Amino acid sequence: MLLDSMRAEEEAKLKGGEDAVAWVKEELCIGCDQCTIVCDDDAIELYDTPMASPIMDVDVNRKARILRDECTGCRLCALGCPTDAIIMIDR
Ligand code: SF4
Ligand code: SF4
Repeated sequence: MLLDSMRAEEEAKLKGGEDAVAWVKEELCIGCDQCTIVCDDDAIELYDTPMASPIMDVDVNRKARILRDECTGCRLCALGCPTDAIIMIDR
């Protein structure tokens, strides 16, 4: 319950609208694709990056990137990201 109310507070503080734009903290992004699913404005794309550690054998390591011109500041991606990798910043 406490976590729920803390989460609600965080969501209320998240800025949005035409003066805001989403930003991905690359180090937190796990490439799960949730944000591209919730974004109605085609403002997010995934790109391949090399693995940080060469001992991990994974075919693709994807990260999300925001297309600033397309982003309407609706906040859906920030609310839906499971790792809190997306924040809203001033445009
Ligand atoms: S929802 Fe979050 S973790 Fe998943 S791809 Fe988008 S930014 Fe990355
Ligand atoms: S804030 Fe809205 S429009 Fe912008 S990238 Fe996120 S889901 Fe898409």
